[in-house]
Amino acid sequence: MLQTVDVGRMSVSSYRSQVPAQIMDPLFDIARGLEGARVLHLSATPYGGGVSELLRSAVPLYNDLGVAATWKIISGTEPFFAVTKKIHNGLQGGSQPISPADRLLYEETSRRNADELLADDGFGDYDFVIVHDPQPIAVRSSLDGMKASWVWRCHIDTSEPDPDTWSYLSGFVGHYDATVFTMSGFVPPDLSPARVDIIPPAIDPLSPKNMSLDDRTAHAVLNWIGIEPGEPLITQVSRFDSWKDPLGVIEAYRIVREKIPSLQLALVGSMALDDPEAWAVYATISEESRADPAIHVFTNLTGVGNIEVNAFQRMSAVMVQKSIREGFGLVVSEAMWKGTPVVAGRAGGIPLQVADDSGGLLVDSVPACADALLTLLSDPGLAAGLGAAGRERVRRHFLLPRLLLDELTLLDGLAH
Ligand code: UDP
Repeated sequence: MLQTVDVGRMSVSSYRSQVPAQIMDPLFDIARGLEGARVLHLSATPYGGGVSELLRSAVPLYNDLGVAATWKIISGTEPFFAVTKKIHNGLQGGSQPISPADRLLYEETSRRNADELLADDGFGDYDFVIVHDPQPIAVRSSLDGMKASWVWRCHIDTSEPDPDTWSYLSGFVGHYDATVFTMSGFVPPDLSPARVDIIPPAIDPLSPKNMSLDDRTAHAVLNWIGIEPGEPLITQVSRFDSWKDPLGVIEAYRIVREKIPSLQLALVGSMALDDPEAWAVYATISEESRADPAIHVFTNLTGVGNIEVNAFQRMSAVMVQKSIREGFGLVVSEAMWKGTPVVAGRAGGIPLQVADDSGGLLVDSVPACADALLTLLSDPGLAAGLGAAGRERVRRHFLLPRLLLDELTLLDGLAH
């Protein structure tokens, strides 16, 4: 049996106070036409990373809108997830060849997951199956002749995939009725499903990670975990993944610290079920930061959860997201929603968020990152202006009801 993720309950109407009516009104309209439909979301991990973050918030809202949604997790061994991580890296432009043995393991595990799905009561009743990212993509190939429309939702930066990896994956994509990418620049040129939609992700303004938190509480949370109150703090929150360039962040911090000796750096990272490389990256970062007590490394395994991330994103003078490749980078919108300026890599979906003089500064190198950090740390007026404009940009474009509106519009189009 595949694991079904238990999610809470949430009312879409509660978002009216935060989200423009131009989004809320059509959302209720489109949902009425889909009432009673059944949707399955299939992904690789219930925690760690943007997809689980998104589904945890979106699934209860589907249900509140009258569209019965379920979220299930495929299962696999560590070697299976080592292969899917290679595929992930290949799609983002890395080149780790996928051997015949890798393919065999990947396809056998996908078939076993497909069999388990078929054995689930009511599997045949789904109207839509939305498959997130490459890990579960091949499940579809073993499940022909069903009434459901199948959507592949790609969350990663596929603008310059390794050709061999993409040619392998595209064989599976061909079985889908529609695909969804975050940006048009991510759509591979030879893609041929019936429908391609462009839908950027979004954050949940009412989740514990993003809800309002008063400064006193946020300070107390950070103080408790060892951040020096009153001294400037910069933070990067992300999975321990080399595409997020944590070592580049440490290098940039060291340059800035020469000018601002009291500066502190926090690297807050999570482990995910489907990311076997995270431990090695974590070990390298810990080694690199050992000699400097002003560098703090935290993980979800030592109790740094949503409220702590909320406090970091709120109380840091600047948030950093120095990604080299980035599907979207929910963390960028999360920080912007709190009015905190961001220094971020000009990669993938990040410039979609940090745009129009809002949210922060984009950078392409370690020295540029250090320069941008210094600029914002030494000009609180500029930092506050970018932060305030960033919050407004997120309100208009990157809050969860807009994502739901886009997704339900796609499902409605597939149904009619
Ligand atoms: N995250 C977290 N704790 C951590 C690191 C990350 O809660 O220690 C969350 C982060 O707040 C964000 C998500 O994981 O909601 C990461 O999503 P993003 O799109 O930025 O990157 P991805 O991991 O999907 O590449």
